[in-house]
Amino acid sequence: MTETRSELQDKIYGGKRIGIDEAVSLFSWDLIELGKAADFRRKLIQPSEEVGFIIDRIINYTNVCEAMCDFCAFHARANRIEPYELREEEILAKVGELAEFGGTQVMLQGGLHPKYNLQRYVELVKCVKSRFPGIVLHSFSPTEIVHISKKEGLSIEDVVKALVDAGLDSVPGASDLLVDSVRQRVSPKKISTEEWCQVMKALHQNGLKSSATMTYGMGETDLQKIEHLEVIRKIQDQTGIIRAFIPWSFSPANTKMEEIIPATGVDYLKMVAIGRIFLDNVVYIQAGWLTEGLKLAQVALTMGANDMGGVLMEEVVVKATGIKTRTNEGELVDIIRNAGKIPIKRDSNYQLIKSFD
Ligand code: SF4
Repeated sequence: MTETRSELQDKIYGGKRIGIDEAVSLFSWDLIELGKAADFRRKLIQPSEEVGFIIDRIINYTNVCEAMCDFCAFHARANRIEPYELREEEILAKVGELAEFGGTQVMLQGGLHPKYNLQRYVELVKCVKSRFPGIVLHSFSPTEIVHISKKEGLSIEDVVKALVDAGLDSVPGASDLLVDSVRQRVSPKKISTEEWCQVMKALHQNGLKSSATMTYGMGETDLQKIEHLEVIRKIQDQTGIIRAFIPWSFSPANTKMEEIIPATGVDYLKMVAIGRIFLDNVVYIQAGWLTEGLKLAQVALTMGANDMGGVLMEEVVVKATGIKTRTNEGELVDIIRNAGKIPIKRDSNYQLIKSFD
């Protein structure tokens, strides 16, 4: 029996879980109507109007990568982008700058360097944690963990355990789009959906938290967008480790997929709102100021998003696509406040560090 729009509305406002087909039908809803429903669902899971951000830095320790994904503008390519590897002193200097600036979280992330083994990753973790024990290392990615496990012939669980023993605190769930037919087209050498799920379960077994991202606008269908959300919702049901969902639109400039027409602002707001309604088990949805711009991120706070992510003292992967958006603490406070929300500075566990009166 086909459901009417008002029946789906009743389900959403009744706080019930919606199905895949129902979520696909939401793409045809009017944006304002959809945004209102998403804001209602946000209030069910987080009644407070607080919106947090963190002071963090991404340190991309190498751009040498054997995956060479078509959608990536960051990895080294012959005659186009020079390869680099940061030395430990350079990494420590960057973490030192963050600590002086009052920052609390570092994301070490890099390409899949053919010569990096488990020992190299363990050394990276140890060198930062021994010098800066108070900095949270929210680092690497499921792809990097599977890369190490294949290189070493170790299980994913053993790799995660070794990194945790070295001092790793949590792992961002860099997810791209968890639909294998899309992955085969845009990043055939990267991990499969099943491997991403295996990493999430291994993180859970080792007591680590994670997140889930979404890169959409790579020529996928609306159904495939929802299939991605379904993978995340299932893993969250099983583990509860996903602290935040972070959707962003694909930026085609300087990639091998430059012919793709970028997603629009309306597409972004709909993706945030549908993510909020579908992911009834994820508390935080980040407004993606880096890829979408500060003003669109501000609007997203009224349509389901409830976190501004990080100040990002340094970021080079998105910058490689030509995006130049930067921000700072004062600007994020103003953006959040002018959206009618309460700004807070938070830690990696989404706990209050500072409020702004
Ligand atoms: S997206 Fe990651 S895995 Fe793919 S080419 Fe870029 S750095 Fe390598």
